[in-house]
Amino acid sequence: MLEDKNQNRTSLAKLGEFGLIEHITKYFNVKNDTTIKAIGDDAAVLDASEKQTVITTDLLIEGVHFDLSYMPLKHLGYKAIMVNLSDVYAMNAIAEQVTVSIAISNRFPLEAVEELYAGIQLACETYNIDLIGGDTTSSTKGMLISVTAIGKAKKDDIVYRNTAKPTDLIVVSGDLGAAYLGLQVLEREKQVFNVDPNNQPDLDNYTYLIERQLKPEARKDVTTILADLEVKPTAMIDISDGLSSELFHICTQSKVGCKIYENKLPLDPQVISTCEEFELDSTMVALSGGEDYELLFTVPIADFDKIKGNPNFSIIGHITEENQGLQLITRAEQEIELKAQGWNSFKE
Ligand code: ADP
Ligand code: MG
Repeated sequence: MLEDKNQNRTSLAKLGEFGLIEHITKYFNVKNDTTIKAIGDDAAVLDASEKQTVITTDLLIEGVHFDLSYMPLKHLGYKAIMVNLSDVYAMNAIAEQVTVSIAISNRFPLEAVEELYAGIQLACETYNIDLIGGDTTSSTKGMLISVTAIGKAKKDDIVYRNTAKPTDLIVVSGDLGAAYLGLQVLEREKQVFNVDPNNQPDLDNYTYLIERQLKPEARKDVTTILADLEVKPTAMIDISDGLSSELFHICTQSKVGCKIYENKLPLDPQVISTCEEFELDSTMVALSGGEDYELLFTVPIADFDKIKGNPNFSIIGHITEENQGLQLITRAEQEIELKAQGWNSFKE
């Protein structure tokens, strides 16, 4: 739908692979000292420095991870970078480079690829990232994007998932559930549009939700805020599959349990009002909605005073012994066992 709206269409075949690579990469400038050679040779060259290197990769497939009928290509490019940076920041590291590989069919004109790269470039500018390479190939039908992000951190600063301890406080940045609801709103509008293309969607009540779905921001700032507070998390993970699923990862790997409190879950007012409208339980949405890209981390209880009252963070519970399991304490003070209901890529 969206790519068809474009009036100017330059066929990719006309440019050829090398012309395309040259065209999409020429506006990227190197920003980090550790990038010795970026695009242009057989491989990029990085200066290893005295720090440790953090590497993460994600593969996004049209029709599985994104729908171009409501995802503008510029946002897709931006988001493809964000989901990878989020993983680097979740290690308490600083991201510095990315590689971007794409497969595209001839259904896309050059202008579509330009839009995608405009989003990638905006993300790289905003987050101080160098694009150092990638690969470009054709696909028979859909679009596929694979991004690898590289970061670095001092050995002692890196935070893993398997090091949470009983009595640690459980903290999340930002708020939860909005990106999932944004997707629900966009899916609903797509259905309405399919029935009546003249129906103009009114999205005023959902601006925050849609922004969280289409233009997520990775929490680069959390690393800095915690360093300024002189707090080192004991364990950390980014929230891509939903809070319960991420708590499961931390607890299983750290061999601990947890207790979280329903009334402490951070929810935006638009999440609350839209849950009412869609007849969804906001706690379920916060626990199982995906794609928030906030950070979930644990800190020693001694750091309570440093974290409490900080507007970036919510203390939602604490770590317990492994035999206590994963518990949600409801507003009615009932204990419910948490289930990991994160997004399963292999859903039927
Ligand atoms: P090779 O044939 O050696 O794999 P390519 O012709 O594929 O090299 O790529 C040439 C240069 O352009 C390399 O530095 C590669 O990393 C970079 N590159 C190729 N495709 C992309 C892309 N989609 N985004 C960013 N850089 C790319
Ligand atoms: Mg290549």
